[in-house]
Amino acid sequence: MTFYDSFAIVDWSGGNDSGPRPKRDAIWLGLVRAGVEETPRYLRNRLEAEAALTELIEVELSAGRRLMLGFDFPFGYPSGFAEALTGQACPFAIWEWLETRISDSPKANNRFDVAGEVNRMFGGTGPFWGNARPKHDVAGLPRTKAEYHNPFPDRRAVEARAKGSFTCWQLAGAGAVGSQVLMGLPVLERLRRRFPGKVAVWPFEPMVAPVGLVEIWPGLIDPAVKRAEAGGGIRDAHQVRLLARALHRLPMDDMRAMLNIDAPEEGWIMGQGFEDKLTHAAEGLRPPPLRDDCFALPAGVDWTPVDEALDMLRARLHPVVRQTTLPLTDALGRVLAEDVTAIRANPPETNTAVDGYGFAHAALAEGDQVLPLVEGRAAAGAPFVGTVPKGMAVRVLTGAALPEGVDTVILQEDVTLGDDAIAFRSGIKPGANTRQAGEDVHSGDVILSKGRVLTAADLALAAAVGLNNLPVRARLKVAVISTGDELRDPGQAVETGQIFDANRPMLGGLVQQFGYDLVDMGRVPDDRDTLRGTLDQAVEKADVILTSGGASSGDEDHVSALLNEAGAMAEWRIAVKPGRPLALGLWKGTPVFGLPGNPVAAMVCTLIFARPAMGVLAGTKWQEPQGFTLPSAFEKRKKPGRREYLRARVRDEQVEVFKSEGSGRISGLSWAEGLVELPDGEAHITPGTLVRYIPFSSFG
Ligand code: AMP
Ligand code: MG
Repeated sequence: MTFYDSFAIVDWSGGNDSGPRPKRDAIWLGLVRAGVEETPRYLRNRLEAEAALTELIEVELSAGRRLMLGFDFPFGYPSGFAEALTGQACPFAIWEWLETRISDSPKANNRFDVAGEVNRMFGGTGPFWGNARPKHDVAGLPRTKAEYHNPFPDRRAVEARAKGSFTCWQLAGAGAVGSQVLMGLPVLERLRRRFPGKVAVWPFEPMVAPVGLVEIWPGLIDPAVKRAEAGGGIRDAHQVRLLARALHRLPMDDMRAMLNIDAPEEGWIMGQGFEDKLTHAAEGLRPPPLRDDCFALPAGVDWTPVDEALDMLRARLHPVVRQTTLPLTDALGRVLAEDVTAIRANPPETNTAVDGYGFAHAALAEGDQVLPLVEGRAAAGAPFVGTVPKGMAVRVLTGAALPEGVDTVILQEDVTLGDDAIAFRSGIKPGANTRQAGEDVHSGDVILSKGRVLTAADLALAAAVGLNNLPVRARLKVAVISTGDELRDPGQAVETGQIFDANRPMLGGLVQQFGYDLVDMGRVPDDRDTLRGTLDQAVEKADVILTSGGASSGDEDHVSALLNEAGAMAEWRIAVKPGRPLALGLWKGTPVFGLPGNPVAAMVCTLIFARPAMGVLAGTKWQEPQGFTLPSAFEKRKKPGRREYLRARVRDEQVEVFKSEGSGRISGLSWAEGLVELPDGEAHITPGTLVRYIPFSSFG
């Protein structure tokens, strides 16, 4: 998706050696190498970091991969400084200037002395300020902002837009970015020199070299970092990991737009203005791509039985949409990404199921009862405070937690109420009319399992047991494309030989009924280049592509030809009627279902094959449609060797089929309310024979 193969992010540090134990405010390196996320590396000091980065660049170059390498400190200073310091208005002049003067070791460095040297060139009160060494004053370097005067702008243009960023002049105290820059630019300068012609620095140079150095800032994805941090771990490690991931996942167009910045002297924070896109890209688990051979058929297979074809789809596909978290109220129809457990019991406390009177059963005497009432009552949300003494009763209302001392409730209709007592007949059972705490769900029970499509009732259950947010999958995006020279859009003028595109409204409707996002890619003529272009666009927008028409191997069957050309096509000749060969393949890693052009076959193939396959891609469990065995109202003889689906509906508890099996008869699809499935073997069905009927609603 992007024009770099690997992304490394460095959280730099201006301080001294941080010791062997991973901590924050040391140097951290996050890496996504050729699409694979690595665990963030802790680098205790700059010496170690420089060696690690040199090695990383060597490895990526020798593997032929392009590497984007980001650092969280400014690559340039506010405008005017470069020229004043070096005589050249060029950021690299500062890099070289610093590289010759800064000395660094894990224990000590001369950054305050060099800053003092700079300040003395400009009158001795600025641009740098701050000194972290208590006993060591540096001539010309103010310790605080009180004595400070800066002859240059305080901030670069980009910093005015990045809320919460620090200036590059501050050398000590919280947010001492200034020290990071002084100690970082010499390292970058040496990396540039070590790999001549192989390193480009953004935005000062065109990003054509195989290694691109960019300035980034973890503050851009702060919401994602905060959410990750809530689960524990070191903030700096989350920052580099999530930023590397976000850059890796960012669509190419966004990456291009992000890099398109003109800031030849001061530099720029890459991603400024793209905070939401980067944060979005940083979050959620994203599954690995499908395997190239996911649609390969065993050698020599001629006609594949339906069940074998379904088994192959089931075994070889896996979810392709990322995981995210949604509030309950937005989660209807979403696929649950993980098992969820109750964090509270239902009911949370033992309570009364009716309006009545509560008491301790063990204290009842033989025979009819008269129990004095305590003062007060227990209502839902307004519990009784205190204990009900043995031998007394308390007024309780439906849903109220049982007060201390109460285990049984008698219905108000079953008592006679006196001034301050109740009377009732003997025979009530202990615990009557109560709901025990946890009798429905215990805290910690799995209430809903991974892969479930969330219903309204599921939301009630989740809410009742204390859940507010649910882990769900992003909605599967399904592109629909019609192919054929003969097609016109509904409403367009038609000439002889032309027909209206019926498949696109049908497939679009099915996609929406399944709960997926429809990406309507329109229709394309029987022209290979046009279709190639449309497939290219579709993979940018969707997770899976449904085409109709052009799927067999005739002259004008460009879908199968293109999938073949891409090298990942399988012509699935499934023993099914209706349905000509179904073409399955990957276009740039995105699965394509090449459905037959015939509307009846297109719909049957979608329901029987594409729907369960898309379910897996969307993260659901494998969905077998629920069929019903019912007597037939028709007569039919079929040959062995293939499964058949007829358009059908149920009337008077019998299955009737459409008057014609013609596969161009769209009216029969509309007439039908389901399919009748006839087995692979030979069959002779007469009225009354039991057949399997699958209502359309069973297909999700
Ligand atoms: P094909 O698979 O492209 O050879 O098409 C098979 C049959 O289905 C031909 O009669 C096509 O005209 C028809 N067909 C293809 N696509 C559509 C469509 N989108 N709507 C209606 N009929 C179609
Ligand atoms: Mg065609």
